[in-house]
Amino acid sequence: MNIALIAHDRKKDTLVNFVVAYRHIFAKANLYGTGTTGLRIHEATGLDVHRFQSGPLGGDQQIGALIAENRMDLVLFFRDPLMAQPHEPDIIALLRLCDVHNIPVATNMATAEILVKALERGDFAWRETINSQ
Ligand code: PGA
Repeated sequence: MNIALIAHDRKKDTLVNFVVAYRHIFAKANLYGTGTTGLRIHEATGLDVHRFQSGPLGGDQQIGALIAENRMDLVLFFRDPLMAQPHEPDIIALLRLCDVHNIPVATNMATAEILVKALERGDFAWRETINSQ
């Protein structure tokens, strides 16, 4: 199970706290993250996070490339809806690829919580089936 973790600056604390709260679930997955988000999560949880570039420097596109290859099973992308981002085109592209490849994606904690609980229940077995084909 490959999970991508991205949070804009004013959402980083929320995502870090979320991963801490559900650490027992995230510990069973392969974690990927943009640069600063990944570092913050690693520091807070001790979990290994494969870190890409920072979002504004191309990290969203690097994660998008994995989505395009159908190698990402879940994306938690805590966007800041109240702050313009210099890399807005990359953000839109990443979310578009989730739709193209039918990848579960949460852009806020409420949805993330539902998806992570579904993951814990085993509701993502269909992704494992796809990945093993
Ligand atoms: P960061 O990138 O985790 O390196 O801050 C995320 C973003 O802000 O897009």
